[in-house]
Amino acid sequence: MERGGRAKRRLRFGLHRRKIIVSTTQTSKAPSPLRAAGALHEEYFERALRITPGGVHSPVRAFKGVGGSPLFFRSAQGGTLLSIEGREYIDFCQSFGPLILGHRDPEVSEAVRQAIETAWSFGACEPYSLELAEWITSRLPWVEMLRFVSSGTEAVMSALRVARAATSRNRILKFEGCYHGHSDSLLVKAGSGLAGESASSSAGVSEQVAADTLVAPLDDDDAVRKIFEQHGPEIAAVILEPLPANYGLLIQRREFIEQTMKSAREHGALVIFDEVISGFRVALGGMAEVLGMRPDLVTYGKVIGGGFPVAAYGGRKDLMELVAPVGPVYQAGTLSANPVGMRAGLATLEKVERTQAYRILEQKTAGFCDELNREFAEKSLPFEVTRAASIFWLHT
Ligand code: PLP
Repeated sequence: MERGGRAKRRLRFGLHRRKIIVSTTQTSKAPSPLRAAGALHEEYFERALRITPGGVHSPVRAFKGVGGSPLFFRSAQGGTLLSIEGREYIDFCQSFGPLILGHRDPEVSEAVRQAIETAWSFGACEPYSLELAEWITSRLPWVEMLRFVSSGTEAVMSALRVARAATSRNRILKFEGCYHGHSDSLLVKAGSGLAGESASSSAGVSEQVAADTLVAPLDDDDAVRKIFEQHGPEIAAVILEPLPANYGLLIQRREFIEQTMKSAREHGALVIFDEVISGFRVALGGMAEVLGMRPDLVTYGKVIGGGFPVAAYGGRKDLMELVAPVGPVYQAGTLSANPVGMRAGLATLEKVERTQAYRILEQKTAGFCDELNREFAEKSLPFEVTRAASIFWLHT
């Protein structure tokens, strides 16, 4: 992944794709009488290494950012994880964001139980996705229509396809350090220094595909202006994390987002907000609500499924009607709108709205971060925590 110099020194914890700094904190010790502490984790990891690349099913789980080998967890409840060795850990990670209500919230649990007892996949129309879609579209006016998919990556990839089809253009503009999933056209980093040129950041992504993605530095009005001056007629969409949650929460001025959206629209390009992290988290309506801005397309993930593989892309009706079977943009999924995820998602969002869970989480996070910063200052430690809503990064 591309990372700028500043971001390299900024380590987010609590919710981070690449580096878990303190995703878990040991709270109690119950050493097994039979094995040395950690031995069982090592044993499992060795087994996993034999059959899975790096022993993990997503690279961020490999503890590369923190050293040591990964811990294996057996169960979880609320804010607590139980390891296979029977030790308890505080979970600041919460599955990288989806579990805004904590592990196994009783209301979500009940919804899942009902789903399991009813049916867990139809491959046909059912009322549960309808209920969740209506719930969302009735609250977020910029989501006139949406389509459920199974991961944030899929949501972003599909939204970009719609943008390309709508504009008959191939290129997209993204910002340095922002992460939008692992589809080919987004695994790119800033390239040779020419206006926005990029290079692939993963082996296996062709230079031709990477070349269609332009990369601008974050919060740099001039760079965006120059890219649009040079490439405007080729750009289908600009995609941004309206809160740079994957990039150290670096400052991205409101004026910068406004200017970027203005430039995009002047040049006939669409604006996509990637709210996979921020959606239903910084406010019910995510950053679009906080900023009072209306993207053409938006992507959601994480909280939307309450811990199940659910994501969505949506936005303007005229754009979403380009999607098959109405329009020519093909996008499909065997398990899309899976009823377990749909019901877990609806139970989660209903509770988030009713209890204003994102506000509670924000208050708790603020108290925690203030306390950390006080301690760092008192002990003259070279750290600082920055925070936006309930997302925080530790900077060195
Ligand atoms: N977009 C953003 C902003 C993300 O943070 C992520 C994942 O962390 C994604 C997209 C990709 O989502 P997923 O991991 O569900 O594919």
